[in-house]
Amino acid sequence: MPIYEYVCKNCGAKIEVLQRFSDPPLTKCEKCGGELEKIISQCTFHLKGSGWYATDYAKKDTGGEKAKRRKKDKQQEKKD
Ligand SMILES: [Zn+2]
Repeated sequence: MPIYEYVCKNCGAKIEVLQRFSDPPLTKCEKCGGELEKIISQCTFHLKGSGWYATDYAKKDTGGEKAKRRKKDKQQEKKD
């Protein structure tokens, strides 16, 4: 089972969870209720050969994911 990492956009908390492909992604921070963003880390990336990567990507690719990530990067640069 791959480990998924999430970071809270609101409080910055980092969460690691073991999930199957079929498990729904976490969306809410347990600490503050803020929105969580999924991090694809290097160490889970090599698993893409088994097919989970393609499946997972197709499932969540509703159009907003890439835009959201770019926006977050900008927010980190500004730091305020
Ligand atoms: Zn939070």
